[in-house]
Amino acid sequence: MARNAKYDVLVIGGGQAGIPLAYGLANAGRRMGLAERKHLGGSCVNFGCIPTKAAIASGRVAHLARRGAEFGLKISTVEVDFPAVLKRAKDIVIDLRRSLEQGFENSENPCLLRGHARVEGRDENGFRVRMGHGAVTAGEIVIDTGTRSLIPAIEGLDGIDFIDAENWIERTELPERLAIIGGGYIGLEMSQLYRRMGSAVTVIEESDQITGHEDKDIAEDLKRLLEAEAVEFCLNTQVRRADRKEKGIRLTLEGSDGTADIEASHLFVAAGRKPNTDDLGLETIGVKVSSKGIVEANKRLATNVEGVWVAGDIRGGPMFTHTSWDDYRILMSQMVGDGSRTTDRIVPYAIFTDPELGRVGMTEREARAAGKQIKIARFEMRKNGKARDLGDSEGFIKVIIDAETGCILGATVLATEAAELVHLYVELMNAEAPYTVMRDAIHIHPTLAEALQSAVSLFG
Ligand SMILES: Cc1cc2nc3c(=O)[nH]c(=O)nc-3n(C[C@H](O)[C@H](O)[C@H](O)COP(=O)(O)OP(=O)(O)OC[C@H]3O[C@@H](n4cnc5c(N)ncnc54)[C@H](O)[C@@H]3O)c2cc1C
Repeated sequence: MARNAKYDVLVIGGGQAGIPLAYGLANAGRRMGLAERKHLGGSCVNFGCIPTKAAIASGRVAHLARRGAEFGLKISTVEVDFPAVLKRAKDIVIDLRRSLEQGFENSENPCLLRGHARVEGRDENGFRVRMGHGAVTAGEIVIDTGTRSLIPAIEGLDGIDFIDAENWIERTELPERLAIIGGGYIGLEMSQLYRRMGSAVTVIEESDQITGHEDKDIAEDLKRLLEAEAVEFCLNTQVRRADRKEKGIRLTLEGSDGTADIEASHLFVAAGRKPNTDDLGLETIGVKVSSKGIVEANKRLATNVEGVWVAGDIRGGPMFTHTSWDDYRILMSQMVGDGSRTTDRIVPYAIFTDPELGRVGMTEREARAAGKQIKIARFEMRKNGKARDLGDSEGFIKVIIDAETGCILGATVLATEAAELVHLYVELMNAEAPYTVMRDAIHIHPTLAEALQSAVSLFG
């Protein structure tokens, strides 16, 4: 580490915004430091998006192999080698991480500083930041420290060696019976993954639907599809107690019809994310942080303290890699550009179950609550030829338009490759183009993308 060094800008956190920003500002002539306490790439590369989707890909191959007979193929047995599945995912992580690290080798600007960064105050030289035994100063700082698993206050949980979104990749023992706390996107993706690997899986969710933000018809269909693979759900249910048993665990659940115990060999906690802002020393410079640990920032990603910026999950709002990455573009615009780019943006997202859920814009509930005059079209994937050919005809497309302008307010694609498909609606929304632009275009036949067109054609 370059101790006692002085930087124009110090980025704290080598995640999805931090790395491109360090390079971008260095190219713009700023002397840059990037502080990272663990692995470059943050959550996405090391245990999040990338390795989960690698393992999910193995799950899909196993699933398709088991369905071989539907395609006229005889595949007598499908044996899962779970450690090998995790190794494949980890190899991808190591490869990506190595290429990020190589970029910083011998680089003086941006300069990579290894260790936990903690702000200590401000003086005439700038912000003082402690890094292990040394300290650096910076004229401006950008906080991109991300999140970690939120561990709910459940009696007995601290005595359980549970799996979570960070350690799953190291846990090579395949659970015989897995209980998952949380029916959000991480819990759902994991439920299907472990089920396809061969575990019996129960998801426990405290609200009355999975994927709480989505419309009920979508949440129910996704639940039905997972149940068809024998994933079990306990909705409206809270975990009150967790006890370690000689073999496995016992959970005491409380639901609308009283309490019950369930037993499992392993527990996965997927109850949300907690911002990494509690050990950053932000109070020493007066940066406002909410009671949940979110750094308060305006749409320029500026905090209440001049010279302190924020990026990524800890700024609140949508917690995705692509939004963190877009924060880098906003900060480039604000710090060295014309300042025109802000968080006024359309943010698509996906749940990588199979079929996937691709989403953009308002839900029906949100559109109605906003008092919009809307029209809704729903197209079933089984009516699409390519989906039938692929043996992936489950799911549907739901599009919501403004009744007056014909512009898309929101869209949901529950289908195979939905995370790819939804982008066509994203581009229509960004162009503020009416649905007729897609209706009147020619889409290649046979494709899944024809289904997107079929859906909007239902508006007439
Ligand atoms: C299991 C899982 C699956 C996911 N799947 C997807 C997906 O499919 N698609 C998607 O878009 N998003 C997904 N996400 C979310 C995505 O990973 C995050 O939104 C994204 O990584 C956030 O980026 P960030 O820059 O905010 O923080 P991070 O990428 O988490 O980076 C923060 C970095 O800061 C470092 N740090 C923290 N504190 C300090 C400190 N004091 N000093 C020095 N360094 C520090 C950390 O070590 C970390 O490297 C997933 C997340 C998880 C957990």
